[in-house]
Amino acid sequence: MEDELRVRKIRNGTVIDHIRAGNALTVLKILGISGGEGNTISIAINVPSGKAGRKDIVKIEDRELEPQEVDIIALIAPNATINIIRDFKVVEKNRVKLPTTVKGYPRCINPNCVTAAIPKEPVEPHFILRSKEPLRIRCHYCHTVMDKDDIIKNL
Ligand code: ZN
Repeated sequence: MEDELRVRKIRNGTVIDHIRAGNALTVLKILGISGGEGNTISIAINVPSGKAGRKDIVKIEDRELEPQEVDIIALIAPNATINIIRDFKVVEKNRVKLPTTVKGYPRCINPNCVTAAIPKEPVEPHFILRSKEPLRIRCHYCHTVMDKDDIIKNL
């Protein structure tokens, strides 16, 4: 409970806990949060945590995450837990699950990939999880392998 006190309790919204230390800002980037949205966001970075040593926590008020957002957080923070808060109570607590396939994002880094074709209707990106640690995903179409940095840069 001690680390919970570092950032204040929220009435409604989402708490993303157990993010690997140093990855909170990446999680915000994934969610497209720049701070200009008006929601109150609390971030705790490198919080001491019994099991993991250190962790990050992100609290987003008045927003509940979509399943697709949870999937991509899983890629970057595979041990994160997502708590949905309503009226100060945790109504849902889910550990993220690493998806075996990812569709719609990120962009494939191969400029000749069919998903990168422009103009006309591009084919939706589609990746297969190849390795969890280190993170590697492979394009379903051109078989290009992307690592965590590639993924973050191409969201
Ligand atoms: Zn590709």
